[in-house]
Amino acid sequence: MGYVVFLPRCGTKTRHPTLLRRHKISMTGERILIVEDEPAVAMGLEYGLKSEGFGVLRAETGRRALSLAESGNPHLILLDIRLPDISGFDVCKQLRSRGMRQPILILSARDEELDRVMGLELGADDYVVKPYRLRELIARIRALLRRAYGELAAPVTGGRLRFGEVEIDLEKLQVLRKNKIIDLTPTEFRLLRYMVSNPERPFSRADLIETIWGYDSDIGSDRTVDVHMRHLREKLENDPANPRWLVTVRGVGYKFQP
Ligand code: CA
Repeated sequence: MGYVVFLPRCGTKTRHPTLLRRHKISMTGERILIVEDEPAVAMGLEYGLKSEGFGVLRAETGRRALSLAESGNPHLILLDIRLPDISGFDVCKQLRSRGMRQPILILSARDEELDRVMGLELGADDYVVKPYRLRELIARIRALLRRAYGELAAPVTGGRLRFGEVEIDLEKLQVLRKNKIIDLTPTEFRLLRYMVSNPERPFSRADLIETIWGYDSDIGSDRTVDVHMRHLREKLENDPANPRWLVTVRGVGYKFQP
C-alpha cells in the first residue's frame, strides 16, 4: 500500500486500531526496566518511553528490580539510587555479580556527584542528572542500546587482538587473560577493542565518549571515561597503578601502548 505512518508522539490520542497495530509492529520494542520509587517520575518515564516504542517494566524497590531484571529480561535498566529498601548501588552490584550485562543508566540528582561515581564503580555504564530532558534521556538510551546490541551483535569476521597475556576474541566477544575469561561489561569491551584497534593513537576523553558511548561529551563525562579505564586496568594490567598497555597521555587522555 505504501503510505507513511506517522508514529503517535507523547500526548497524541489515536483511536485508529490499524494505526495502533502498525505502531506496535513497527517498533523495535526493546524493554526498559525503570527502577524508580517516586510514582510521578516513574509514570512520566513510562509514558515517554512507551510513546517512543519501548516496552516498559517498572520496579519501585531494589528487590523488585532484581527479580524483574531476571524474569523480564530487559534490554536496559534505568536505575534510581535512592530506593526504599536496598539502594540502587546494591542493585547495580548484584546485577553485575549475577553476570547480567545489560546497559545500566543511573538516574542521579544534581547534587549527588558521589553517587554517580559510585554507580560507575559498581558497573553502571553511564548516568543522567535529574532533572533531565526526556529527549536527552531517550537519546542516551538509544545510544547505549545501539552500542550494546547493534554493534556487538553485528557480524565481525573473526580475528583476535593480543597484547601481553591478554587476548581479545572479536568473534566470541570475549577477553581472555592467561587463558581465563575476564568478565568485562559491554562498555568496557568496546572501549578496550577500540583502543587496541588503534594503537599509539592518543584519545581525548571527549573522543572516547563520542565513539564509545555515542553522544557528545558534557560536564562530568570525563569521570565516566576515567572510571571505565581504571576498571580495564584493574582487570587486565599486572600493575594497574602503573599501566603498561592502557597508558595516560598527559594533557590529552589515553592511548593503547603496544
Ligand atoms: Ca528515589
